[in-house]
Amino acid sequence: MRVLSSVRWSDLRPDDFLERQRACPIVYMPIGLCEPHGHVAALGLDTLKADYYCEEAAGRFGGIVAPTQGYHIHECGFHKPWLDEVVGDTNPLLAGMPPQVVCYHFLYQLRAYANAGFHAVIVVSGHAGGSQKDLRRVAKAFTKSTGIPVVVKTDPEWGGYEGDHAGAYEISQLQAIHPEAVDLSLLERMNDEGSGGRLALGLDAAEASPAKGQQINETIIAAIGAVAENLKEGTLIKEPINYQQAEEIWSKILAQGEWWSMGLK
Ligand SMILES: [Zn+2]
Repeated sequence: MRVLSSVRWSDLRPDDFLERQRACPIVYMPIGLCEPHGHVAALGLDTLKADYYCEEAAGRFGGIVAPTQGYHIHECGFHKPWLDEVVGDTNPLLAGMPPQVVCYHFLYQLRAYANAGFHAVIVVSGHAGGSQKDLRRVAKAFTKSTGIPVVVKTDPEWGGYEGDHAGAYEISQLQAIHPEAVDLSLLERMNDEGSGGRLALGLDAAEASPAKGQQINETIIAAIGAVAENLKEGTLIKEPINYQQAEEIWSKILAQGEWWSMGLK
């Protein structure tokens, strides 16, 4: 059973929500997805770390954590040949979506935050590789229309370390957060059938350690805290944004042309 949290939108009663929001009107949005990170690690590594960073940041610096977005952009752009290479014929057990679906949904997530009275948004993406630029494009358009600042960064973009995919960086992060989600005795485990070798495991995964993960994680949380400090004022909208107004923002985004960093296919 999941333990209820004192910083989660979903877990707070209205009075407690408003009290937390009055003290710090920032909302954190964790976004990740399920994709293979070798046989050694839980599929939701990207989601689990985004949740952790947001919950820790809200707990330490104030603010509220929005419902987690557990689907992310995949199977398009360079991700497609990457999947063919590192997963091959094996089922990737993927929770991916095309960019236009994630971005459209993201715009409406931002609308929900503004209408709920938040003054600023911090988005922490556990999934990197370029699709964050699509989210930033939506964020920029939203800020232009509403004045509400939205910061979107993947975990390595918070600074200090170069990210990887299921290598010493990511496996360490998860070891420090959820040790039970990593089993390094499976490092040499190959796929039973089909191709895909070690299921997208990074070459240096054997060098992962909880201590390394702890250092990386603390650097990221401190960086989020510094941004949160600067965003506390933000902007409070005067009237709720209705669906039609959100659609107008979406039209402006689409009018920017073929900007999807991953392509649409
Ligand atoms: Zn990952």
